[in-house]
Amino acid sequence: MVRTCEVALPLPLRTTFTYRVPGALDEQMVAGARVVVPFRNRAMLGVVLGRGDGPDGASLKNVAEILDPVPALSSRLVELGRWISNYYLSPIGETLRAMLPPSVELQFDREWQISEAGRARLQELRSLAAPNEAESADLAVLQVLEARGGVVSDGILRKLRDSSAAVARLLRRNELVVRGAGRHRTARMQKIVAWKVQAVPAPFRPAEQKVHRVLAENAGPLALVSLLKMADVSRAVVQRLAKQGKLLVTEEPLAPEEVRFATDLLPPSNLLNAEQVHVMNAIKAWLQARAFHPALLYGVTGSGKTEVYLHAVEATLALGRTAIILVPEIALTMWISEICRARFGGTVAVLHSGLSERERAREWWRVRRQEVQVVVGTRSAVFAPLEGIGLIVVDEEQESSYKQEEAPRYHGRDVALMRAKLEGAVALLGSATPSLESYQRAREGKYDLLCLRSRVENRPMAAVQIADLREDFRRTHKTAPISQDLREAIARELAAGRQSIVLINRRGYSWFVLCRGCGAAVLCENCSIALTYHKKRERLACHYCGFSRRVPRACPKCNSEHIYFVGAGAEQVEEHLRTLFPQARIARLDRDAVRHKRAFGQVLGAFGAGSIDILVGTQMVAKGHDFHGVTLVGVASADAQLSFPDFRAAERTFQLLTQVAGRAGRGTLPGKVIVESYHPEHYAIQMAASQDYVSFFEKELHFRRLMHYPPFVALASVLVRGAKLEKAIHWSRQIEAFFESQKMPEIKVLGPAAAPLARLKGQYRFHFLLKSTRRAALNQILNKCLACCVEKEIPDRAILIDVDPVNLL
Ligand SMILES: [Zn+2]
Ligand SMILES: [Zn+2]
Repeated sequence: MVRTCEVALPLPLRTTFTYRVPGALDEQMVAGARVVVPFRNRAMLGVVLGRGDGPDGASLKNVAEILDPVPALSSRLVELGRWISNYYLSPIGETLRAMLPPSVELQFDREWQISEAGRARLQELRSLAAPNEAESADLAVLQVLEARGGVVSDGILRKLRDSSAAVARLLRRNELVVRGAGRHRTARMQKIVAWKVQAVPAPFRPAEQKVHRVLAENAGPLALVSLLKMADVSRAVVQRLAKQGKLLVTEEPLAPEEVRFATDLLPPSNLLNAEQVHVMNAIKAWLQARAFHPALLYGVTGSGKTEVYLHAVEATLALGRTAIILVPEIALTMWISEICRARFGGTVAVLHSGLSERERAREWWRVRRQEVQVVVGTRSAVFAPLEGIGLIVVDEEQESSYKQEEAPRYHGRDVALMRAKLEGAVALLGSATPSLESYQRAREGKYDLLCLRSRVENRPMAAVQIADLREDFRRTHKTAPISQDLREAIARELAAGRQSIVLINRRGYSWFVLCRGCGAAVLCENCSIALTYHKKRERLACHYCGFSRRVPRACPKCNSEHIYFVGAGAEQVEEHLRTLFPQARIARLDRDAVRHKRAFGQVLGAFGAGSIDILVGTQMVAKGHDFHGVTLVGVASADAQLSFPDFRAAERTFQLLTQVAGRAGRGTLPGKVIVESYHPEHYAIQMAASQDYVSFFEKELHFRRLMHYPPFVALASVLVRGAKLEKAIHWSRQIEAFFESQKMPEIKVLGPAAAPLARLKGQYRFHFLLKSTRRAALNQILNKCLACCVEKEIPDRAILIDVDPVNLL
């Protein structure tokens, strides 16, 4: 018998792989450990799922290396990974990869080796009098290999001109052998420069004087890069001084600086009001019970949910347990982690995708080594390797950003609930506008419902006014992106020296470009979607695939020169505000204006500090931020989302309007909100204006029940895609036939239909929507569907299954 182990590899395959465990590694081989294994000419990083025994003589490859003396993933996290893989039908290897830290210590490369046959060929090629082009190319590759002792790395062959065809040829004839290698990467080092105290100060050249001033008089020892910048000298100057013995140069590993994020944030008061105390008492009792307990904290905007989270974390730590706080966006991570650090000191780690791989790995391992007790982060922080978890908070649980839109397609909130269950922890979902699913579960008694009905310090909710854009047009005979009412309101705030936020939930300058001649919009080459006009870049861009083109002078279809631009996006609203209020200080916050997290922090910081009067932006401006100076919030065209072909369109509109309205009047002055709409009678807009969540919930729930949508059914989508239309149709037909052959009374299958985005990134897309009254039945039929795809030889990449989909485009 030989010792073996089962390894999950990060591949879109639904199988695991068996490897032989060499004797030397036997002791350390435990589930959850990361291993390096050979796989098809490559070295890959996988996770051990379990161990076993195989018959002697089985042709198994050896595990090359075990990376972790203590397994990276605890057995509970491996169990969680198995649950995700089963529930979302995601390949186990890809699922576990999403849970691992970035493997910054390893570098994967391929090595090429010359074989015996290769050496013989080399002799043969050398003897040729007039080799042809292919023979010359082969010769060049083999000569490089020979000159370097028979083995070279991938990078060296890639540098050779026209080598790829030659390498493929040589490989086919077994004259070359390829193998994968995982090399430990050395930590990146930086040079640290210090002035030698004993060094004789004179005589100085001017450039040397500058170095002396910075190092000896001002800043002390510095990283070389910073020194060059601060002293404004060239590298040669520093080298010369080092040679003369005036400078001491040492090396140290590069530790990335932490990103500081400062707004006008006042640490919230530690005092709780009566409502908050009531809520906290319930949470404390659950924490003390040390058992799984799910609860929904429904609190209106400004009711002090964050303060409840912090008290709950405090109570958890007091019991010797640990806590995770999940937030929907990176910007909020920074904000909440600052508060947490102020409150809990160095025991806080931050995990989100905005960090560099190194920063993320460093934070991850701090958590794994049990150096921290609190983790703050976006959805993947739900996998933080904390031990002894007592509390998982999911802030703004309704946010769609908790859903991962690539494999594994998990929902951070739902995984948080499952993790809390495995850990025996309290799961606290918080929101001012809970998702219908969560609120319904709370009403059914599956979660406990906690309520905060009033704002802290009894501040009034902002008064909301709906500006009817049809009426505005009748009055002004102009379609401006800012209505007269909103313009006058902003002017009043400006005159009083107060701040305003204007939300416009569309990027770019114009929504799309239309031809008056033939009526066609200018479409993306790869997607069935109209391109958005970006004025500053003078380009039309696709927000789905990144395609962009110059703005055409004439219609690409009919050559008419009568092209016009439709709809105002954030860029245009900003420009419009600048013409209306030339004296105001205006900044824009969206993915085009702010491309880096630093810039993002700067804009919010400046707004918080009061040096910006009007902040314009997409939904980025709507979330969570606590600015006390904002008294007016305007929503330019609140309808943008209502017309989306998605059963959650009304819910999303209601949520966004409520969230953004919640930004106003958080300080001592009361707030006002103006919502512009062409459909002011729509219930989502009406009820957001009256900030009446419960009525909205009842109305929307009624619609969901009638139409058989969640929370009344479990939903899954099966998307079929292909670069060739005929293929995509053919596969859809095969899957359709499969669903028809299944007799499952509790499942309804809609489709195949062209997806709302019928073409995306060059691929044609058809989809099925499955509705099931029983979740187990849904899981079963999806598994069968995948088996059928394998049987019919439909490629893995052509099928995309999304359980509990959030995005139906
Ligand atoms: Zn045209
Ligand atoms: Zn596109």
